[in-house]
Amino acid sequence: MDPSCLFCKIAARQVPAKIVLESERVIAFEDRDPQAPTHVLLIPREHVPSSLHVTAANHAVVGELVELASRVARERGFAEDGYRLVFNTNRAAGQTVFHLHLHLLGGRSFGWPPG
Ligand code: AMP
Ligand code: ZN
Repeated sequence: MDPSCLFCKIAARQVPAKIVLESERVIAFEDRDPQAPTHVLLIPREHVPSSLHVTAANHAVVGELVELASRVARERGFAEDGYRLVFNTNRAAGQTVFHLHLHLLGGRSFGWPPG
């Protein structure tokens, strides 16, 4: 855990969040500024700063982020319609929290190319 990291603190339940699901390695919670009817963030409990820091050591947990996001999409009924998964990485993509997080956005249509 990085004691200065907001998402480490959420994973440790030191900062409140609306938890959606938890597993041994992953925790998912509602984004506090939702950009779609569903906007859930899925994070590894382990501190990984961004997708640039993903190595063979964390392939399993990154796969679990994707699997659990699809589970939430099914449970919320928009899996067949479709949804968007996003890893913002560094400044040009608008990353603001430097603990790896997968955005699950669903419940509406999304444009392409993204903004
Ligand atoms: P990014 O811009 O990809 O780094 O995304 C960070 C996301 O974290 C944004 O969508 C924020 O709305 C969200 N966020 C920041 N602080 C919190 C918090 N305390 N609880 C829930 N979501 C948060
Ligand atoms: Zn962290």
